[in-house]
Amino acid sequence: MELKGKTALVTGSTSGIGLGIATRLAQAGCDLILNGFGDSEAPKAQVGEAGGRVGYHAADLSQPEQIADLFAYAEREFGGVDILVNNAGIQHVAPVESFPIEKWDAIIAINLSSVFHATRLALPGMRERGWGRIVNIASVHGLVGSAQKSAYVAAKHGVVGLTKVVALETADCNITCNALCPGWVLTPLVQQQIDARAVGDGDLERARRELLEEKQPSLEFVTPAQLGELTTFLCTEAAAQVRGAAWNIDGGWLAR
Ligand code: NAD
Repeated sequence: MELKGKTALVTGSTSGIGLGIATRLAQAGCDLILNGFGDSEAPKAQVGEAGGRVGYHAADLSQPEQIADLFAYAEREFGGVDILVNNAGIQHVAPVESFPIEKWDAIIAINLSSVFHATRLALPGMRERGWGRIVNIASVHGLVGSAQKSAYVAAKHGVVGLTKVVALETADCNITCNALCPGWVLTPLVQQQIDARAVGDGDLERARRELLEEKQPSLEFVTPAQLGELTTFLCTEAAAQVRGAAWNIDGGWLAR
């Protein structure tokens, strides 16, 4: 319970990685503010079981004024945000010359600009309280490219760059900012890509195996629970001098 008394906001925490991280932070003693689309009751119950208070705000992170509403809610109901996990993200796969413009704009807004907005809104309260942790869920695609993922790779490289700048601007105080760079994690975002590979023969098992074989030497998915563990570590005093890192957790993807 070493994070008892801290309030954590995890964006995009109704599903996948965000839900795993929120659950682990609740187990560490945090109060949690959840966010994201779809059903919020089951995620609230799951995180609530771990202990602590659980709130929820439905802000669409592509809209800066809704992000401001989310922070006003956090201030009003929880007294501010001590731990910010910028996790919400979407994907679209297409060659650059036929990449839909509205998909480009949405990916840049949700995967990159929302990290800027949430960070600029979180920092004043963290500075006032003299403590803060920002963990940005980037991707291996923040460090290397893959074909057909122009917007995603551009946004995630942007997140890694923004992480370094925020780490420098907070280097003189007890606020840290780091990025995690996961490889494949089996969430709805990746299941869509497996489904797309199986169109034709319908062989989901083959599609899943080939997806891993192409990039991830361990041939195993990273799990939301493992990402929750690493995020929690970055929030402890042991990690107080981990600053501006882009920490890959990728089954060996970047080692090749
Ligand atoms: P997911 O689809 O399971 O969850 C995405 C979450 O973001 C959901 O809660 C969804 O409601 C929310 N969201 C989407 N658009 C939103 C918006 N406009 N406003 C508010 N919330 C919104 O996906 P995931 O795989 O858990 O991805 C989470 C993060 O991890 C993303 O940033 C993704 O890029 C990153 N990531 C995922 C993988 C992977 O293999 N799954 C690998 C590396 C990085």
